[in-house]
Amino acid sequence: MCGIAGVVALGNISEKLVSSIRSLEYRGYDSCGIAVINGSGKPSVRKNIGSVEEVSEKENFLDLHGNVGIAHTRWATHGGVTKLNSHPHSSCDGLFTVVHNGIISNYISLREKLEKKGHVFVSATDTESIAHLIEENYSKLKSVEKAFTATLKALDGTYAVALLTAHEPDRIYCARKESPLILGLGVEENYIGSDFNAFIENTKSAVILDDNEYAIVTHDGYVVKRISSGEMVVKQVLEIMWDSEMAQKGGFPHYMLKEIHEQPQVVRTAMNIEEDRLMKFAEAIADKPRLYLTGVGTTFYVAQFAQYYFSAYAGVTASLASSDEFKFMANVDDDVFVLAASQSGETYDTLSALRHAKAGGAVTGAIVNVMGSSMARTVDHLILQGSGPEICVISTKAALSQMVIMARLALRLGLLNGKLTAKDVKAREKELDAVPKGIEKILNEKSGFIHTIAKEQSHIPHWLYLGRGRYYPIARESALKMKEVAYVHAEGMPSGFLKHGTIALIDDNLNCVVFMPPEEDAELYKLTLSSAEEIRARNGYVLGVMSESKSPSKHLPFSETIILPKAPPFTAPFFEMVAAQLFSYFTATTLKRNVDRPRSLAKSVTVA
Ligand code: GLU
Repeated sequence: MCGIAGVVALGNISEKLVSSIRSLEYRGYDSCGIAVINGSGKPSVRKNIGSVEEVSEKENFLDLHGNVGIAHTRWATHGGVTKLNSHPHSSCDGLFTVVHNGIISNYISLREKLEKKGHVFVSATDTESIAHLIEENYSKLKSVEKAFTATLKALDGTYAVALLTAHEPDRIYCARKESPLILGLGVEENYIGSDFNAFIENTKSAVILDDNEYAIVTHDGYVVKRISSGEMVVKQVLEIMWDSEMAQKGGFPHYMLKEIHEQPQVVRTAMNIEEDRLMKFAEAIADKPRLYLTGVGTTFYVAQFAQYYFSAYAGVTASLASSDEFKFMANVDDDVFVLAASQSGETYDTLSALRHAKAGGAVTGAIVNVMGSSMARTVDHLILQGSGPEICVISTKAALSQMVIMARLALRLGLLNGKLTAKDVKAREKELDAVPKGIEKILNEKSGFIHTIAKEQSHIPHWLYLGRGRYYPIARESALKMKEVAYVHAEGMPSGFLKHGTIALIDDNLNCVVFMPPEEDAELYKLTLSSAEEIRARNGYVLGVMSESKSPSKHLPFSETIILPKAPPFTAPFFEMVAAQLFSYFTATTLKRNVDRPRSLAKSVTVA
């Protein structure tokens, strides 16, 4: 959570610094601030609540001139959203200024000790203790580097932290422990950032800090050392594959819509993942008698989707665990494979689950979008999905791609188990190959109709999303989309569950979406249809989502029907999910929500 940026150059850096945190704003956006040093003297700090654009204008960020600076865009964890709690935070003498991402879990005891020594705190954040502790340590150690590392050693919890100090005004000190931080290497100028977006406009060469490392960055170089010993670490320089244009809106009103429209391409990329990699991954899964699938939020539904596909196509029974609950329910040992999905590869809950699994002797694997991310470097087996930057806080294309990859893995597992033949796999892969065209058709031909229904029904405060079998995870994921982007209450549940209680809610204030399987999935079709009938029998509104049929029944129990391109059972869920993404998007725009940055959310949830 939150974005950290920093620039060290020979000329004025304020414009680059502001542009950096604008690119990171999707990580947190309740407040922001910058600190800049101009040759010598104390860091000048400006900050306030609001978006980067608002605060930059109000606080005249660009009037701050200097050649070294750090910046922050916040997603508050400790202390309300106020100007004083915004980062950067400074020591009493104003000579040390820090920005921080994460949570310092022992901040109360640190603060009490520092207050006893006379330090005066002005904010309610956990972060401010860091600045005062560096000042305190500097008064004894008389060395910035020693004071910085002594401070880091005293911190419990998680951090990516960057320090600017008047004592050494030509550099940035920074460090990480379980929150992401990377360095960008330019020509005569260097950068730091929470992710590539911080500096991708300026350079594609990056160095990824590992946990418990710190770096000292100047305009012409950097060193990385271990926090515990001060020993130097030789780092690999990584070339980022993404383009800065990939992170632009490209004519769409919102990133969310742009990313929904990128899905045909994203599926094609998922289909291009080499056979060898998929097969090796599947073999590693098959090598263990027990399997856990995990994720959190949208990726939990990706994991649940995989659970159905692994069972149906490979006869593999997997346990499902929300990664925030993993430690409390999973039994891990060396008989276990844990498979996770994560867009950012930095999701704290999922990383913790994987670390817990590894510590227990399990073998781990993940499908991740961001190369070089913590998860990508933690797991034993990795599939990089290559979906390109997903800027909207709401995940669409990354999740769909993960589901396609899970479906492809299910086929390989089926092959290994002897449940599928090579011919079966080929036939299902052919069906997947047709998905991009089908999605294009939905986007081109159905967006208008879906927009109209969204407008007509935007006054409805409660929605039930119903699906059976593999449509159940789709229903839950689609309900989550509605909640997070439109702030409309929505629940996803198995359609068979409805009659066991929830049906009592059916009235004028509650609408239902029913995800229908293709007719050839006869049993599932019949059962799902009965649930729709039960709702209609109580005068409830039902929005049916289904594939095109040659001889559509005239008596379908739907108030409205979104008809999607004909698809076989293996791929129909993908189309239904895309339709539901559009429905949430258009409901959100009708209700004038902040689509790309919904309230209270942030991308890349790197805190517990
Ligand atoms: N815990 C810090 C705060 O609440 C940092 C939060 C963040 O990562 O943005 O200010």
